[in-house]
Amino acid sequence: MPAPPLLPDPTLLAGGAAGPRALRPLLDTVLTALAEGAAARCGPLPAGGPEAVTRRLLERCGPALPAHGTGAHDALHSLVGALAEGAADPADPHCAAHLHCPPLAVAAAADLAAAALNPSLDSWDQAPAASALERHLTSALAELVHPEGPAPDALVTSGGTEANLLGLLLARERLGPALRIICGANAHHSVHRAAWLLGLPAPTVLPTPRGILDPAAVADALAGLDALRCTTAAPAPALVVGTAGTTDAGAIDPLPALADTVAAHRDHRPTALHIDAAYGGPLLFSAAHRAKLTGLDRADSVTLDLHKLGWQPVAAGLLTVPETATLAPLGQRADYLNAEDDTEAGLPDLLGRSPRTTRRPDILKIAVTLRALGTTGLAALVDATCAAAAELAALIEAEPRLSLHSRPTISTVLFRPADATDEEVADIRRRLLTEGRAVLGRARARGADGRDTLWLKATLLNPHVQPGDLAALRKLVLDLSPPRPKGDQP
Ligand SMILES: *Cc1c(COP(=O)(O)O)cnc(C)c1O
Repeated sequence: MPAPPLLPDPTLLAGGAAGPRALRPLLDTVLTALAEGAAARCGPLPAGGPEAVTRRLLERCGPALPAHGTGAHDALHSLVGALAEGAADPADPHCAAHLHCPPLAVAAAADLAAAALNPSLDSWDQAPAASALERHLTSALAELVHPEGPAPDALVTSGGTEANLLGLLLARERLGPALRIICGANAHHSVHRAAWLLGLPAPTVLPTPRGILDPAAVADALAGLDALRCTTAAPAPALVVGTAGTTDAGAIDPLPALADTVAAHRDHRPTALHIDAAYGGPLLFSAAHRAKLTGLDRADSVTLDLHKLGWQPVAAGLLTVPETATLAPLGQRADYLNAEDDTEAGLPDLLGRSPRTTRRPDILKIAVTLRALGTTGLAALVDATCAAAAELAALIEAEPRLSLHSRPTISTVLFRPADATDEEVADIRRRLLTEGRAVLGRARARGADGRDTLWLKATLLNPHVQPGDLAALRKLVLDLSPPRPKGDQP
């Protein structure tokens, strides 16, 4: 690797008029290291498993706390290169285990500007334009989710976990500290953790054998809460948590029926509906898929992640609400950030926009993406991704040695070698990982035969995946599958 013509001073700053001049040669080094790392990896993830990956990384990264630095070029080249070589790269069509999206180049470029400018969204004097951009975009995104208002608003979060925590927190503040949570077995684990963090009783978990909540079971659970109180007390408030796009299967709970159930119950007890649409939410952009989210607008709060089906670098989460006043409990005073007289004099008070204090301008990459692609451009990516999942499902259905769990609702395909044992399914996944051939996920789900078994999970999020990539993925699994045709018992 020839040394660059000018060795940049590693103490130069990223901001100011001189910042770009300092950054340009460094970016060159970064981009070269990214390209070299991807070429050296030559696949969706590094081969060899955790020990080999750690060994190669440690060889390249040097001491963790060196007394004397090696300079900006060397540090970027060796560490970025090592990280790229050892990455599970969601831009590779065979990296499809999780809701781990390949970020758009335009969004990653915007994120670089966010890092260089480094606005912090806890006070206006740290983020004058960034905070205005955030207000502009959050209300528009919230309006997409809650078109009927009355005053849609959204908070930018670090992801679905924080958004779910805020959804539960706001429900508790609105409905009272005796709040009870009802969710399905299909709900994300962060709902349970949120209840624990908030000191609420553990959620009532309803079985979801078909992968989605049964509204009749929710109604029964709501009615059953009365058994928990003594006769004189008022009915305990309740929050029903539904999911639009489950992490395991991409299934969508019956949103209109859930909203009806909650509405019918409201006469009897304070009841609210939170929908975790971390995965499925961006279907709203697509005219072809939007109808799957009918009823979402009736939720009292909605979790949305744009670092999944929105192709943003982490982090890009949102919590939307139909009425901005419901966010008031997050308000907080700290004289150095939002003194009352500053607020009265017209400086926007940002501290109530998040439970965090220092906060990145994650809105910038989202705004840049929307401006660059438009909502129709984003919809085209959603449509292409869903079409790729349908295509993979069709390829699996056509192969007698593989079983398909169900046609995908969004972009998750569960499948397994016909008649394989759970151990064999788990082993196939681990072999593909350690050999560096494919990153597939796993999910436990009930099959058509009524048995709960382990499935391989392909979570497609790469809108540029080609039919040939999907056929190759199917072949990777087939080549490791036990040689038994469907129906032949082992
Ligand atoms: C991913 C996911 C979450 C958690 O979101 P993070 O962004 O990882 O914090 C919550 N709920 C669902 C349904 C998810 O898919």
